[in-house]
Amino acid sequence: MKKKVRHRHSLEDYHAGILLGDKVLLAQAITLAESELESDRNLIENLIEKIVTHKKDSIRIGITGSPGVGKSTFIETFGRHLTTQNKKVAVLAIDPSSYKTKGSILGDKTRMEELAKDPLAFIRPSATRNRLGGVAAGTSESIILCEAAGFEVIIIETVGVGQSETAVRNLVDFFLLLMLAGSGDELQGIKKGIMEMADGIVITKADGENLKKATQAQADFTHALHLFQLPESGWNPKVLTSSALEKTGIEETHKIISDYIRFTQANGFFEKNRHQQDIACFHDYFNSSLLHLLAQRSTIEKSKKKLEREIMAGEITPWLASRQLSNLVLDALKKM
Ligand code: GDP
Repeated sequence: MKKKVRHRHSLEDYHAGILLGDKVLLAQAITLAESELESDRNLIENLIEKIVTHKKDSIRIGITGSPGVGKSTFIETFGRHLTTQNKKVAVLAIDPSSYKTKGSILGDKTRMEELAKDPLAFIRPSATRNRLGGVAAGTSESIILCEAAGFEVIIIETVGVGQSETAVRNLVDFFLLLMLAGSGDELQGIKKGIMEMADGIVITKADGENLKKATQAQADFTHALHLFQLPESGWNPKVLTSSALEKTGIEETHKIISDYIRFTQANGFFEKNRHQQDIACFHDYFNSSLLHLLAQRSTIEKSKKKLEREIMAGEITPWLASRQLSNLVLDALKKM
């Protein structure tokens, strides 16, 4: 989808406004970051270069879980807990449903109403348009923009439907998985993969009749996590229970995240992880700009379409087709 974004402001306006924490300019800059238009890309790249020098310390938290597990209610309560401590919180909600269907799991306006009104909070839903590796276009830039605007905690929310977690894991310091006791989540193979990426698991809706089940699930998950290999961070993932409605387990979650940050800062993993993420970002962007460059060359696009037709007709194998196209790309590069 090509979003047309008018530059209502100059680079200098965005720069100055974002540094002052102007949420309207921040939101517009994020729209630019999500755009595929060349002129928008240029502006955002220049803006990032200017702004990155003002980057302040922040904590980046990824939060994932199945639809209905209680993500938005938890983030609202957790976010309010942080803002009452005078911390500025940005929530970037990545919504894998809305790009294709224009419908939305995350984007409806009734979510996080209280937090949305909070002057110390900024909430931004984004439709995913996958770059290679599935990073929502513009999310890494959006993080830098939010940090420059003074947000100290950046929460990246994603629906746990399988593909987006790995991408989000590569953007954050702490990865939190929300699970509902007795929902069958425990049994799904896909969750095992996600559990292995988690630095913390919160069993949600631990209230009323659910409380007992939640406490049991906490013990089960703690046990299950012990069977996994210790992650590179050296941190033993923790399991908590929480009720966002009764506001239990919220302070504890905050404490675990702070403990993790201290622990990984002390052992050097925090910084190393951010640098590794920068390398992954570099690869990701380089690959997509290369593909973009190639797609702009009409002869290559035409040959690609022709080879696709030949594959469909059974006239050529995909391997030979790939070899032929690579040779064309090589020729084009030589002429550059
Ligand atoms: P999401 O789809 O993961 O963002 O889930 P929501 O936050 O929208 O919550 C789904 C449903 O669970 C809503 O009806 C909430 O009211 C309910 N819910 C969320 N958190 C809690 C909680 O802590 N306790 C209880 N009992 N219900 C909750």
